[in-house]
Amino acid sequence: MSAPYTSALAEDLAPAVLARFERYVRIDTQSRRDRDRSPSTPGQLELGRLLVAELRQAGLERAELDHNGYVTATLAGNADGESAGLAIGLIAHLDTSPDAPGAGVAPIVHRSYDGGVIELPRGGTRLDPAAMPELEAKAGHDLMTASGDTLLGADDKAGVAEIMAAVAYLAAHPELPRPTLRIAFTPDEEIGEGATLFDIGRFGALCAYTIDGSELGELQDETFSAYEAVVTVDGVDVHPGQATGKMVNALRLMARVVAELPSTTLAPETTAEREGFIHPYELSATAGRAQLRAIIRDFDEDLLGEHARLLERTAHEVVDREPRARLEIEIRRQYRNMRQYLESAPSVVDAAEEAIRAEGLEPIRSPIRGGTDGSRLSEMGLPTPNIFTGGHEYHSVREWASLHDMAAAAATIVRLAEVWTRPERAAAAVMREPASR
Ligand SMILES: [Zn+2]
Repeated sequence: MSAPYTSALAEDLAPAVLARFERYVRIDTQSRRDRDRSPSTPGQLELGRLLVAELRQAGLERAELDHNGYVTATLAGNADGESAGLAIGLIAHLDTSPDAPGAGVAPIVHRSYDGGVIELPRGGTRLDPAAMPELEAKAGHDLMTASGDTLLGADDKAGVAEIMAAVAYLAAHPELPRPTLRIAFTPDEEIGEGATLFDIGRFGALCAYTIDGSELGELQDETFSAYEAVVTVDGVDVHPGQATGKMVNALRLMARVVAELPSTTLAPETTAEREGFIHPYELSATAGRAQLRAIIRDFDEDLLGEHARLLERTAHEVVDREPRARLEIEIRRQYRNMRQYLESAPSVVDAAEEAIRAEGLEPIRSPIRGGTDGSRLSEMGLPTPNIFTGGHEYHSVREWASLHDMAAAAATIVRLAEVWTRPERAAAAVMREPASR
């Protein structure tokens, strides 16, 4: 039996969300690490061009794709009073993860999911509700999957489709009150570059929302704070036959550094919830030179700094015992926990909670063990929490999404527009000037 939608509005929006989603996931927009241009791959421009055409068709203004791959557009507001001059941003990312195959996505709709194991036609891929409690809860929903050998791309084309369906709906229903909505679709989020060339001054919104979360009702206003570390050891390489007393093996030294790092604590595989970690994720080494890349994460800035010092101390303790080896450690900031920025603009998160409740849902507040475009945008001056999309098992061939929940996300966006026209919201907002560089 088919499950009910969260609201009549969601049911209304569902066919448009589905049609758009099926169109967008077929375009390969997988991003590529170590990019030499923005966007890193041409497929993102292809999707960008399609979206610009569809935004114009829906009646939005200033719809454009810039040369870095950013799509922006405006839906003019129709509210009077304090919210008349207010602009609110809606953001999703165009690219998909480089961590699973992203070309040739062939989406499948599973109508009225029966709650059992889903066998996908390719690659022997199975979705087993016993191993996926969130899937088990979706019996009766219409589900989307890929065909078993690619990702689906709900991360974040679910968000793109939901924003597109919601703004097209609002454009066609001028009787529904709304502030001015600024839309942005960003490239290369999955390789950490989504915010890099985002022009928040030109965007001109007071705040924004990324539609890039997961489970129904989720609202995230907290992300990790993040460093990346590159540790390099230079040894002394000599022909092994003449190495006696001369060779200093950098590979051995680095292997010892890795072995000395904590692994039963402070590792992603042994921590959860609010605990941070040091995660060595790439090692390249010869006897002469070894390089280790690691990411360091915590919700707390002081603890993040402690983890960084622990890595430095460990490397020095191992390598300094060999005076002929040279050690270099580079640590750079990737992004900060968005919470500190959102706390100074509480109405931004409050409005999202009201919108989620207006859709009949209880907001789920959970910290993200990762970052979003919003982490860096919030730091740059555009407060940007994250809202659910209805997609799950991201970055894998098991990725799936509930069409029921995707429709609920689109409906939440329509309600969010109304919330921002309420006098008390608009009044809270005029306390702040729109973000600018
Ligand atoms: Zn995403």
